[in-house]
Amino acid sequence: MKNFHVAIVGAGVIGSSIAWELSKNDLDVVVFEKGSDVCSGTSKANSGVVHSGINSPVSSLKARFCVEGNKMIKPLSDSLGFSLKMIGKFVIAKNEYEAKIINNIKKIGQENGVPDLEIVDENEIKTKEPNISCYQALWVPTAGIISPYEFTIAFAENAAINNVNFLLNTNVKDLKKKDNNFEIKTNRGVFQSNILVNAAGLNCREIVSYLEEPDFNIYPCRGEYLVLDKEYSDLLTSMIYPVPPKELGVLGVHITPTIEGNILLGPSAEYINDSEDKRSTKKMMKTLLKEANEIIPIFPKKAVISAYSGIRCKLASPNEGGWADYRIEESKKTPGLINLLGIESPGLTAAPAIAKEVLRMISKSLKMRPKLNFETRNIRNINISEMSSKKKSDLIKKENRWGRIVCRCENITEAEIHKALNNPLKAQTLSAVKYRCRAGMGRCQGGFCTQHIVRIMEEDFNININEMNLKSANSKLFYGRTREKKND
Ligand SMILES: Cc1cc2nc3c(=O)[nH]c(=O)nc-3n(C[C@H](O)[C@H](O)[C@H](O)COP(=O)(O)OP(=O)(O)OC[C@H]3O[C@@H](n4cnc5c(N)ncnc54)[C@H](O)[C@@H]3O)c2cc1C
Repeated sequence: MKNFHVAIVGAGVIGSSIAWELSKNDLDVVVFEKGSDVCSGTSKANSGVVHSGINSPVSSLKARFCVEGNKMIKPLSDSLGFSLKMIGKFVIAKNEYEAKIINNIKKIGQENGVPDLEIVDENEIKTKEPNISCYQALWVPTAGIISPYEFTIAFAENAAINNVNFLLNTNVKDLKKKDNNFEIKTNRGVFQSNILVNAAGLNCREIVSYLEEPDFNIYPCRGEYLVLDKEYSDLLTSMIYPVPPKELGVLGVHITPTIEGNILLGPSAEYINDSEDKRSTKKMMKTLLKEANEIIPIFPKKAVISAYSGIRCKLASPNEGGWADYRIEESKKTPGLINLLGIESPGLTAAPAIAKEVLRMISKSLKMRPKLNFETRNIRNINISEMSSKKKSDLIKKENRWGRIVCRCENITEAEIHKALNNPLKAQTLSAVKYRCRAGMGRCQGGFCTQHIVRIMEEDFNININEMNLKSANSKLFYGRTREKKND
C-alpha cells in the first residue's frame, strides 16, 4: 500500500492549486479525482471572473482570500501561461435608491483593500459602454476574466511535472484513520497518507462523513448561463453587474465577455435537491433574457448559441439568507483532516491564496523542504494563426503536423492535438483535447473536427475506439456500429 505525505481529494481549482503549492516542496503528494480530467466539477462551470473583493463582508475569509488571490493572478498568468484580461467591471445602479447601494459597496470594497474604485455617471459609462442603460455605476478596474479550465489545468499540469501523482477516474469511497495515517479506499485500490485534504467541492460533506459526524450541510444552488455567438462580442468591452439581489447571497445576473470572445449571460440562482442536476431550463432562459434586457435594451436574443449551468456549494440554506463564509480548517475530531467547506464564489479568484493558507496549515505538522529541481512550465498555446509566416513555415518544415488544420473554426493543427493528448496528467478524453487546445470550441462545436481527433486518438495514441470517452467514463463516444458487417 503506497504511503503519501499528503492526499488531496478533488482536482478542481482548489485541489489543483493546493497540489501546485505542495509540489514546490519535497513531499509525496497524490490527488484523487473521480472525473476523467481535472476541472470536472464546479471549477469548469462558472463566470470565469477574477473578482476584486468588493462583494464580501469586511473581515470575512471570502474577502481576504479574494483580495489576496486577485493580486496573485497577474504574476501567475505571466509564469504559468493561462490567459488573463483585466477588463474591469461596472456595477450599475438604475435609480437613486440603487445609487446609495453602490456607494455602500464602494465603501466595503475600500475597507477590504480594493484599489481605484470610482463612482461614474451615465455619460461616462456611455463613452465606454454605449449599449448600457443606467443612472450611475461603480467602476471596478481590478476585476478581470480568465478561462477557468485553463487556470485549473495550469496548476494541475505544473504540479504533475513536479511529481505530484494525479489519479484520474479514481473515486474515494471510504476513509479510516488508523494510528496516525489515513487509509483511503478508492475504486482503484487502497492508499495511505499522513494528511488528508478534503477539496471535494459539492461532495465535501460526504468525505467528512466517512471519518466523523459532519456539523454542517451542503445546499446545492444551480446557476444557469446562456452563451452568445462571438459575432456579438462588440456588445460590451467590460463586465456589467446589477446591484446584488438581497436574498440568496449571490451577485445577480450579469453580462460578461469571456476570454474566448463570447458573451455570457447569467447565472440564475435556484436551490436544488440533487447536486448533479445540471439542467438548463426553458424557464430560466426566459428569466435570464428578461434581466439582460433591463441592462442592455437592445439585447439580441437570437445571438444565444448554447447554455450550461454550474452548481454553487452553499453552507447556508435559503432560510438562512444563502450567505456563509468559507470554512478552511483542520478538523478537531480528526487531526490531519483539512477541510475546505463551502468554497463557492469567489473561489476561483481565491484559489491561489487559499492554497498558500493550506500549505501554512500543513507545514505545522509536516516538515517542508523546498524542492531543488522545481520546474515551472508555461502552458500557453501559441495558435498557428497568431504566428508570423516565417515561424509557421519553419515549424511545418520541422514537423508537418503543423501544416494540417484539424479544427477549422479555431485553426487548430494536428500538432496541437498531439500536444494536448500528450498532457502530463494523461487525460485522454475528447474534452481533455478541447480544453487544452480549443479544438471543437468554435461555431460548429466539433461537427467537423471530432472525426479527425478520433482518428488521431486511434492511430497515433492507440486508444481503442470502443473506450473513447467524451468527458467521463460514462460518456462513451461510440456505442457500436450503425451497420454490422455480415458474419460479424
Ligand atoms: C454559477 C457559478 C458561478 C461562479 N462564478 C465565479 C466567478 O466568476 N469567479 C470566481 O472566483 N468564482 C466563481 N464561482 C466559484 C468557483 O467556481 C468555485 O468556488 C470553485 O470552482 C470551487 O472549486 P473546488 O475545487 O472547490 O470544487 P470543484 O471544482 O467542484 O472540485 C471538486 C472536485 O472533487 C471531485 N470529487 C468529488 N468527490 C470526489 C471523490 N469522492 N473522489 C474523488 N474526487 C471527488 C469532483 O469530481 C471535482 O472535480 C462560481 C461558482 C458557480 C457555481
